Amino acid sequence: METTLIILKPDAVQRGLCGDILHRFERKGLTIVAMNMMLISKEQAEKHYEEHKGKPFFDGLIRFVTSSPVIVLAVRGQNAIMVCRKLIGATNSQMAEPGTIRGDLGMSGSNNLVHGSDSPESAERELNLWFPDGNFD
Ligand code: ATP
Repeated sequence: METTLIILKPDAVQRGLCGDILHRFERKGLTIVAMNMMLISKEQAEKHYEEHKGKPFFDGLIRFVTSSPVIVLAVRGQNAIMVCRKLIGATNSQMAEPGTIRGDLGMSGSNNLVHGSDSPESAERELNLWFPDGNFD
């Protein structure tokens, strides 16, 4: 079993799409094992996205994810990291396949509704960052 870190970004919350998105993870057969709604700090956002520091979109990305509340989730299942990435779809929502969350629900390349950890190493780092008291082994 694997656990991955998912964030429903501010646009998902503002557009009232959280129920639809959570339903997609649940219908697939994944289990939500932790969930927190919060307004995230600039420091926490910068830690989460530290690999993108210095990229041209970094400042806009930090402004976006700190602009209004998000929902942070731990999602568990067999190969959950890969399965969630497939459900989420390509980074640019216009390029994302129909049937994926971004492909069905978005048009933006930056405000793309959902984050999902991209590797076991990222999932471990991100779960520790967002759920420091969690035990997802
Ligand atoms: P995430 O990490 O949020 O799951 P991802 O893995 O599909 O998304 P990354 O390449 O890790 O994409 O980029 C992180 C986030 O930064 C993207 O989800 C998007 O919000 C933003 N981003 C990435 N590339 C661009 C870009 N060229 N222009 C604007 N924003 C971007």
